[in-house]
Amino acid sequence: MRQPRSGRQFLQIPGPSNLPDQVQRALAQPLIDHRGPEFADLVIGIVERLKRVFGTEADLVLFPSSCTGAWEAALVNTLSPGDLVIGFEQGHFATAWHQLAQRLGLRVEVIAGDARVPPDADQLRERLVADADHAIKAVLLVHNETSTGVCVDVATIRAAIDDASHPAVLLVDAISSLASTNYEHDAWGVDVTIAASQKGLMLPPGLSFNAISAKALAASTSAGLPRSYWDWAPHREVALTGWFPYTPPTSLLKGLHESLNLLFDEGLPNAFDRHRRHGAITRAAVAGWDLETYCRDESAASATVTAVLFPDDVDAEQLRTFMLDEFDLVLGVGLGPLRGRVIRIGHLGGLNDLTLMGTLTGLELGLRTLGFAVPGGVEAAIERALALGPVPAS
Ligand code: PLP
Repeated sequence: MRQPRSGRQFLQIPGPSNLPDQVQRALAQPLIDHRGPEFADLVIGIVERLKRVFGTEADLVLFPSSCTGAWEAALVNTLSPGDLVIGFEQGHFATAWHQLAQRLGLRVEVIAGDARVPPDADQLRERLVADADHAIKAVLLVHNETSTGVCVDVATIRAAIDDASHPAVLLVDAISSLASTNYEHDAWGVDVTIAASQKGLMLPPGLSFNAISAKALAASTSAGLPRSYWDWAPHREVALTGWFPYTPPTSLLKGLHESLNLLFDEGLPNAFDRHRRHGAITRAAVAGWDLETYCRDESAASATVTAVLFPDDVDAEQLRTFMLDEFDLVLGVGLGPLRGRVIRIGHLGGLNDLTLMGTLTGLELGLRTLGFAVPGGVEAAIERALALGPVPAS
């Protein structure tokens, strides 16, 4: 059993992210009637504002579930048994989504590639052009692969589909980018955007979302995969009436109301700048330690998570466990093939410069305690923060 510790634990995993005190207080409020007028007003207001975070005026539905449920919802509402879908070798979460699709009875083709850089849009274009009879029904993309720290320019993938004049729907997982990175469901021509509560929205896990284009909605009228809990149809009413088809997570919705207040008070562009800035500061520290980020393309480096790659002869998992035991610093585990190879630093949600500096200092302290000759990562982080100037003001 672990000894009790003084001070607050540093939870710096890439979701669930830290909860601001205002959100914690909202979560602790007394429960309300989910069929009453207060709840209806709360939900209608939430959906209206949440659409701005998704960059959409289209339909937005909310499910009481983790993000995996929203992955499933996107698939079962748009596709039929045996349909062919195409995805990319992006990392652990993309693969998990592909496996889920297979279990639902879809055929999944994966474009092989290097998970350390964004998927190759040209390869997709060529494959779609070759698909003359339009057997491919959907393209599955993870916007920000949380296992690798690589963030994809969604518009390039949309352009590849359009250049090929292909009718496949574009389904995008934006769980670890939404509310932290600019996201444009409508302008980027995304058909279904999938997200959840526990990352940029600064809430506990338990709420997930699908933003739905008119094309995806049309597809849902003929999609043949069985669906009940995940059926969009009764959920589309929620935006107008606040009436869920089953009991919604009322406390999480109270929390979401508060986290949206915080985001809009800060200003979404400022929140995006803050995350970009924290990503840059984190990468400066990694370079200062003479280590590599797993992401090889600086222009695709995630604003919310950095996967730090360790040399082959180092067990990153042992280091991560040491940070937890010694300093109460919780960093993200390496997932799938990256277990033991990377440590992931989450820099998203309710975060400020000092929390980030504390995290980077904790990691440097741990590495030095273990005898690693890491030069000045923290110093480089401070230099980068100074060069970037102050956190954007609201
Ligand atoms: N997609 C991405 C990119 C994720 O980071 C995660 C979880 O971290 C998931 C999907 C799965 O989400 P959940 O665990 O909420 O089902």
